[in-house]
Amino acid sequence: MAGAVIALKDNMSFKGHKVSASSKILEGFEALYTATALERLEAEDAIFIGRTNCDEFAMGASNENSAYGAVKNPFDESRVPGGSSGGSAVAVAANMCHCSLGSDTGGSIRQPAAFNGIYGLKPTYGRISRWGLLAYASSFDQIGPFAHSLEDIALLTQIMSGKDAHDATAIQEPSLNSWESSSKEKQRFAVMKQAVEHPGLDEEVRASFNALLSKLESQGHIIEWVDFPLLDQMVPAYYVLTTAEASSNLSRYSGMMYGYRSNNASDLESTYTLSRTEGFGPEVKRRIMLGTFVLSSDQYDAYYEQALKVRRVIQNQTDEILSRNDAMLLPTTSTPAFKLGEKSKDPVSMYLADLFTVQANLAGNPAISIPAGFTQGGLPIGVQLMTPRKSEIDLYDLSKLIERTLS
Ligand code: GLN
Repeated sequence: MAGAVIALKDNMSFKGHKVSASSKILEGFEALYTATALERLEAEDAIFIGRTNCDEFAMGASNENSAYGAVKNPFDESRVPGGSSGGSAVAVAANMCHCSLGSDTGGSIRQPAAFNGIYGLKPTYGRISRWGLLAYASSFDQIGPFAHSLEDIALLTQIMSGKDAHDATAIQEPSLNSWESSSKEKQRFAVMKQAVEHPGLDEEVRASFNALLSKLESQGHIIEWVDFPLLDQMVPAYYVLTTAEASSNLSRYSGMMYGYRSNNASDLESTYTLSRTEGFGPEVKRRIMLGTFVLSSDQYDAYYEQALKVRRVIQNQTDEILSRNDAMLLPTTSTPAFKLGEKSKDPVSMYLADLFTVQANLAGNPAISIPAGFTQGGLPIGVQLMTPRKSEIDLYDLSKLIERTLS
């Protein structure tokens, strides 16, 4: 990595440098240790050029929820770059660095990659240690790379992967070190009927996706149309579970230990209340309240426990489909980059921007967004591939195939 210039999402700790998750509540805070993933890149002589803007605590799909203000899409500055890792995607797309890092809890690497015409990988849950990543929803969060090429994606993933004594959920295997796979001539792709027929799917995105399917078929690959009736349950289950985890993870920001403390407080309780009231933005507050509600003893069975069951069923169905197929192929997003302000007043419409990306986080599988051309208006479109857990090498190989097919 000598000489490689890398930008870091503002939710990764780098000792002695500021990190704020783009939140006022971490104003002035400096990291006390370096995230394992960054330590490994540093040991290979990578250069960290700076921190990139993101949605506050990685909560968002448009990078509008940031204490620093919104990020703009370099293809059309009236549009969002995607989120929550919007700044990291733009930094690569606009050639401010070679590669960058993001975190993906429900699509925050793949969706901005798609909106910016670059590659973005969410590895298998646990492939890269989360030590030093500011937690949003710990059973979903995963660090991953943005780059202009699959080779760079593979290299960064290889260096950052591997077991870590600091993270018990990191996969207890050595780092990935070879990207050779025994690729078959004919590959089988599963395509979810409910996704391609979804009424929210933009016509140009649908047409470009269908054109890819026809090309793959004409090369002799097999497309299996699969039923996935739970598609519309994925986003609700995702938001119940992630807000629950977030409400717990964010309880540490109390005004006592890190960053911002209200000047208006007069005792312990008002320190907690005012620091949190003044420090957190509206979306983070909404999620803390929602998460606290679904975990409350009255509501736990109706929401949190149900959502855990839905997660299990989604995992099982995903495994079953991938036992018969090499990968699932999906559009990364249902639309190209939307306008700044278009969804920010309506949280539910913003949450639906994650329709095609949350499955990989609910199930833990690796998934990548690959650039798939442009709309007539010049906005990038992405296509998403997902393979079984721990199969990044096959995912890389299949991504190469998609890249060749699209070129
Ligand atoms: N848009 C999703 C959310 O707001 C995904 C965020 C992420 O992956 N960090 O939760």
